Amino acid sequence: MSNTVNVTINNMPVKVAPGTTILEAASKLEIRIPTLCHFKLDTFDFEHRTGSCRICVVEVDGKQNLAPACCTPVHEGMNVKTNTIRVINARRTILDLILSDHPKECLTCEQNGSCQLQDLAAEMGLNKIRYAGKTSTYKIDLANEAIVRDMNKCIMCRKCEVACNEIQTVGVLSGVNRGFNATVGTVSNRPLSDTKCVFCGQCVAACPVGALSAMNRSYDVWVALNNPKKKVVVQTAPAVRAALGEEFDFEPGTSVTGKMAHALRLLGFDAVFDTDFAADLTIMEETTELIERVKANKNLPLLTSCCPGWVKFFEHQFPDLLHIPSSAKSPQQMFGAMAKTYYAKKIGIDPSDLIVVSVMPCLAKKYEASREEFSREGVRDVDIVISTRELAGMIKEAGILFKNLEDQDFDNPLGESTGASVIFGSSGGVLEAALRTAADWLTGEDLEAVDYEPVRGLSGIREATVKVAGMDLKVAVTSGLGNARKLLEKIQKGEADYTAIEIMACPGGCLNGGGQPFIHGDTSILDKRRDAIYAEDKGKPIRKSHKNPDIIKLYDEFLKEPGSELAHKLLHTKYITRDNT
Ligand code: SF4
Ligand code: SF4
Ligand code: SF4
Repeated sequence: MSNTVNVTINNMPVKVAPGTTILEAASKLEIRIPTLCHFKLDTFDFEHRTGSCRICVVEVDGKQNLAPACCTPVHEGMNVKTNTIRVINARRTILDLILSDHPKECLTCEQNGSCQLQDLAAEMGLNKIRYAGKTSTYKIDLANEAIVRDMNKCIMCRKCEVACNEIQTVGVLSGVNRGFNATVGTVSNRPLSDTKCVFCGQCVAACPVGALSAMNRSYDVWVALNNPKKKVVVQTAPAVRAALGEEFDFEPGTSVTGKMAHALRLLGFDAVFDTDFAADLTIMEETTELIERVKANKNLPLLTSCCPGWVKFFEHQFPDLLHIPSSAKSPQQMFGAMAKTYYAKKIGIDPSDLIVVSVMPCLAKKYEASREEFSREGVRDVDIVISTRELAGMIKEAGILFKNLEDQDFDNPLGESTGASVIFGSSGGVLEAALRTAADWLTGEDLEAVDYEPVRGLSGIREATVKVAGMDLKVAVTSGLGNARKLLEKIQKGEADYTAIEIMACPGGCLNGGGQPFIHGDTSILDKRRDAIYAEDKGKPIRKSHKNPDIIKLYDEFLKEPGSELAHKLLHTKYITRDNT
């Protein structure tokens, strides 16, 4: 069998491998065929073709019936036309039919400006709604802190189902009913808050329209900033700085840390702090726990616990393993706890008069901040969580010319950070940061080697054996809950001899979080965000968490030592078994 197939597309010849789809073959000729349901993530070697939207139809060999380009493989001598009048008419009619049952709410839709349906209507020059028919009337699910589900806007591309069931293996969403009543539902039509949804937001990231969107809390931030009785501080997660610039026409992979700090100050925050500081703190606590467990040879492998999506996943689905994740809170919650105790005391303010706002790449962090255990005496440690996209919206709304801003630094005492903390934003970063500290602590030296290349990367499950103080530590890193499931099942069967495992719910880690600027399947953007994060790490004068001078001061003045009684009270948590239906 020949290993190439000759195809002609729009009168241009192209040679492709057998099995290639028309969609892929056309892309080799720089022809983009529009799609709404095709789901391809190159970095993760993932592709799902349903052919359900039919927008990608093309003419093949002059046949009467048009074929969907996304799931039709090429054959030798195939002759494809992608822009004949028949194709144009068919695509416009399909789009007209989709729009006939789509709310005409573009101006107030969370996805306004990022909607692929809106883009397609503009591209196809649709200037009126041709079919006015029956429209859906589903109740909007607003019952959780993270995600809004408005199935009236659903176009049944089924990408959310694929993200939830195949990539994440959470299994919350599935297609129900037929014909006009077809929709994507939850078990017994429950709100997401009553399901095992982990609020990772990967369904939101996949949704081409505004049927699934983030719960926008930017107005609450404006209200807080304009309350003269409150002091309002902000923390920004590591992955935010590597993606925020995309919202302001910077090339993907441009780190905008200094401009972001400046913009936050212009928005009116009383102090601009950094979650990276708390990531260094996380490493102090988590590495202490790791070393204790290694010495006692107990409760291994230690599983990282920075990601609330992943935490909720194991609480629902692996209750027999609740003893092995680290008890360390996530950096977001450690920051909140330190702000409402150490910082509030330092500036002489009652914690209830201090509002902590988080800017996160993540939708699960919105849910995490609302967990009961992260409040003390009725005061939440983190009051409002907004996403990278929401922050970009606020900066635009305030009329701040972001591109022109000078770089500024974070404030102290919760703003100083190291290279170890910034890599938390990428898959592999938490474990690498812990290894940097563990190696120094176990040898009692200030080791020069800080780069643990084998744990870096975005995809799959990465394993490495690293030498630390004469010990061979077998570690693993993965992201995406489908991959996490594989590792957890290995642990359950007693087939895993790891010392530590880092798991992040979103494929690639936080740089691909559900609150980041939309990539619409272009995973090359994730590679660039990752490069920006590691470049920032390399450029930092201090690259180990335990060397952060403000962390050292925090322990000296307040917490005493890693793992102390106070540190346990404020920086550690417990996990609970949750319903798995
Ligand atoms: S947020 Fe995550 S777990 Fe919840 S429905 Fe979406 S993909 Fe599934
Ligand atoms: S909710 Fe969004 S992703 Fe899911 S089927 Fe509807 S349009 Fe597609
Ligand atoms: S990987 Fe990061 S962005 Fe995704 S759910 Fe976890 S913490 Fe949030």
